[in-house]
Amino acid sequence: MNKVESALVIGGGVAGPVTALALRKAGIDAIVYEAYPSTADGIGGTLAIAPNGLAALDIVGARDTATAGAQPITATVMSFGGRSVALPPVAGLPPMRLLQRAELYRALYDVAVADGIRFEHGKRLESAEDGADGVTARFADGSTEKADVLIGADGIHSTVRGLIDPDAPGPGYTGLLGLEAVVDRPVEVETGTMCFAFGKRAYYLYWRRPDGRTGFGANLPRERPMRLTEARAVPREEWLRRLRETYGDDDPGGDLVRHLDPDRLTVSGSLHLMPSVPRWYRGRLVLVGDAVHAPSNSSGQGASLAIESAIELARCLRDLPGPESAFAVYERLRRPRVESIAARAAKINHMKAPGPLTGAVLPVLMRLLLKTAMRPEKTLGPQQRHRIDWAAPVTSAAPPGNPVGRPVS
Ligand SMILES: Cc1cc2nc3c(=O)[nH]c(=O)nc-3n(C[C@H](O)[C@H](O)[C@H](O)COP(=O)(O)OP(=O)(O)OC[C@H]3O[C@@H](n4cnc5c(N)ncnc54)[C@H](O)[C@@H]3O)c2cc1C
Repeated sequence: MNKVESALVIGGGVAGPVTALALRKAGIDAIVYEAYPSTADGIGGTLAIAPNGLAALDIVGARDTATAGAQPITATVMSFGGRSVALPPVAGLPPMRLLQRAELYRALYDVAVADGIRFEHGKRLESAEDGADGVTARFADGSTEKADVLIGADGIHSTVRGLIDPDAPGPGYTGLLGLEAVVDRPVEVETGTMCFAFGKRAYYLYWRRPDGRTGFGANLPRERPMRLTEARAVPREEWLRRLRETYGDDDPGGDLVRHLDPDRLTVSGSLHLMPSVPRWYRGRLVLVGDAVHAPSNSSGQGASLAIESAIELARCLRDLPGPESAFAVYERLRRPRVESIAARAAKINHMKAPGPLTGAVLPVLMRLLLKTAMRPEKTLGPQQRHRIDWAAPVTSAAPPGNPVGRPVS
C-alpha cells in the first residue's frame, strides 16, 4: 500500500483532535467525525493531565490552551486508617493539571479548528469498507466518506474496535461508580493538594480549590455496572443518601457529604477499563486512545496516554511506507507502555472496593502501596518522564516501547 495522505478520524473527544493535529503536522489531511451534535458531550467530571501528557500536548501546540483554566496539583496526600502521609512528587517535573473533561474537549477542538482542521458533528460511524484504494466510512445519516485510513478515536465503547475484530473484548467494569461535586466547605490542606482517602467503606478523593471550596470525588463500590442513563435517573437525593451512608464516618469525608448540595452532584456512572485488546489494527483501520487502551481512572493517565498514542500514530504514518507497516510499529511502540500502566492501576482498584477478603488484608496492602508510593522515581518516574521525540524518524526496526515497570505488588 502507498504512503498515507488522508485520514478519517472517528471521535472528537481527546484522542481525535490530537490525532488530527499531529497528522496535519506530519503533512497528512485529516477530518474529524463526531457522533454528537456539539463538542462537549455534557458528561462532566474532572480529569488530570500528567506531566507526560502535558509534554505531548506541547508537540501539537495545544498545551497552553488546554491548561489555561486548569488547577495545578502541587502536593499529594494519601490517607487510610486515620493516618495521612504526604507523597513525594517526581523531582523536577511540572505539576499535573486538573480540569473538567468538557473543558479539555473544548480546548482541543478550538486549537484544532484554529489550525484549519475540519470537524463534522452529528456523524455517528456505523460501518466501514476496507478496499485496495482506500477505506469508506458509512455514517448513521446514510452519508459516506473515503480516505487512505480510518482512525478509531471513538472512546471506550468504540465501534471501530468491533469493525477491526468482531471478537474484540468490550470494556470491563471496575466495580465502582463515579460521582463528583464541589462542596462549599474548606478542607484543612493547602490549595492544590490532592488527597487520596481510603475510607472505612470506600475510597474517595478530595482537593482544595483556589476558590477555597473542596472538590470531592467518590468511587462507590457496586456489584453490578450501571448505565449512565440509569445512574442519572436515580434522584440526586438518593445518591446523597448513599454517599452519606458510605462516607458518613470518615474524616473529612463525613463532613463533606453532610454539606454536599445534591444539585451540584455530577454522576459519571460505572467506571470502566479496557482489558488487553488483541488486535489494534486491520487493513486500513486502526485504534487510538480509550478505544484500545483505557486504564482505570486509578491511573490518572487515561487522557495523557490517549494524547501520547495519537502523536506516536501520526509519527508512524509520517515515516513508514504504508498503513500496515505504520500500524505495526505504532502498536509495538505503545502496547508495552499502556498495558503496564493499566496493570498497575488495576491493582490499585482492588484496594478501592474492599470486600470481606481484601478488607482483612487491606492494612498489608496499604503498607505495600505506601511503600511503593514513597519511591516516586521508581513508580511514577517512568510514567511521567516519558517524552516523545517528534523530530526523530521512525523506522520499521524501531525497538518495542518500554513498559513502565511491574504492577504494584
Ligand atoms: C469519571 C472519569 C474520570 C477520569 N479521570 C481521568 C484522569 O484523572 N486522568 C486521565 O488522564 N483520564 C481520566 N479519565 C479518562 C479520560 O476521560 C479518557 O481517557 C479520555 O477522555 C480518552 O479520550 P478518547 O478521545 O480516547 O475518548 P473519549 O474522550 O471518550 O472520546 C471519544 C469520542 O468519540 C465519540 N464517538 C463514540 N462513538 C462514535 C461513533 N460511532 N462515531 C463518531 N463518534 C463517536 C464520542 O462521542 C466521544 O466524543 C477519566 C474518565 C472518566 C469517565
